[in-house]
Amino acid sequence: MSAVGALVDTLGLVDHHCHGVVRTDLDRPAFEALLSEGGPPAPGMTNFDTPVGLAVRRHCAPLLDLEPHADPETYLARRAELGAAEVTRRLLGATGTAAYLVDTGWRGAELLTPEEIAAATGAGARHVVRLESVAEDLAARGVDPADFAARFADLLTETATQTRSVGVKSVAAYRVGLDFDPRPPAAEEVAAAAADWLNRPGVSRVDSPVLIRALLWTAVELGLPIQFHVAFGDADIRLHRTNPALLTDFIRAVPQQVPIMLLHCYPYQREASYLAAIYPHVYLDVGVSLNFVGPVRAAEVLAEAMEVAPFTKVLYSSDAFGLAELYHLGAHIFRRALGDLLTARVADGEWSAADAIRVARLLAAGNATRVYGLPEADG
Ligand SMILES: [Zn+2]
Repeated sequence: MSAVGALVDTLGLVDHHCHGVVRTDLDRPAFEALLSEGGPPAPGMTNFDTPVGLAVRRHCAPLLDLEPHADPETYLARRAELGAAEVTRRLLGATGTAAYLVDTGWRGAELLTPEEIAAATGAGARHVVRLESVAEDLAARGVDPADFAARFADLLTETATQTRSVGVKSVAAYRVGLDFDPRPPAAEEVAAAAADWLNRPGVSRVDSPVLIRALLWTAVELGLPIQFHVAFGDADIRLHRTNPALLTDFIRAVPQQVPIMLLHCYPYQREASYLAAIYPHVYLDVGVSLNFVGPVRAAEVLAEAMEVAPFTKVLYSSDAFGLAELYHLGAHIFRRALGDLLTARVADGEWSAADAIRVARLLAAGNATRVYGLPEADG
């Protein structure tokens, strides 16, 4: 391995977007359902027959004291024998993550909290508040539609303050697509949309374009970095409506002191790289994409994300959800992809080793530490 590759392997990472780890032991159907954004495999098939499935057997099995390429039955039997807590300790412990920024807004009760992740790993962990979850919490508490906008702003501020959140997250891509009207909605539009939503029986998902815009513009006022889920995701998204280029007019309208973080982006990592190159407050990662394309193709995807974006704009995330394996693979695949890419630049004579190392430090932790205002020790 090159000197640069060896250095990349030792850098502490800031995982700027991930979720919690499941707290319970998993049987095979539950494990497989979490191994794909598509959920359970089709009848007669297995989610182990995917790039990420083979990567689990190759790279996670040795951490559970198995041979590389252990078959799925052996792997899951050993996993069950060790138990969820030990598997989490081993797999997350091997990531070399210094700090996790955890989106707590989805299926939170099933997952370890940021504080529990910190306790299990010794790493730092901070909260990222999901806008839509705060709105749904507010609906559950009960709110007059005419007061929705003001009450949401108060609850968002209160939640972010109480949890010492370092950012907010939007799933507009899932709920309405990224081709929403970029302007802040008028107060009467918000009240009418809130009435329409709140008058439905029970608490339903917030899926009104007007309300999603209201949440986003409230977040802009709050001023924390806004993470956008972009592209690659589960069956809820319409892929063609999640191209980050659709956010262009919103990006132009948001003041430049509010960072906009484009998450995952696959297969639109080149569009995201372009946006990060052009707009001072836009950043990107290829987080979950690297896990799902697997170690062999990851270097190409990361290279595309880095084609035109300044090196100060590209971040690391695992976007791991649920499975401890996804945290481990996220870090492992990112390090390998980055190490291969930088090694090739130095071998070509294009970059000095010192520049390659500086870029490695920015992507691994430096950019996230700066943008989210983390203490240096976390990075
Ligand atoms: Zn995520």
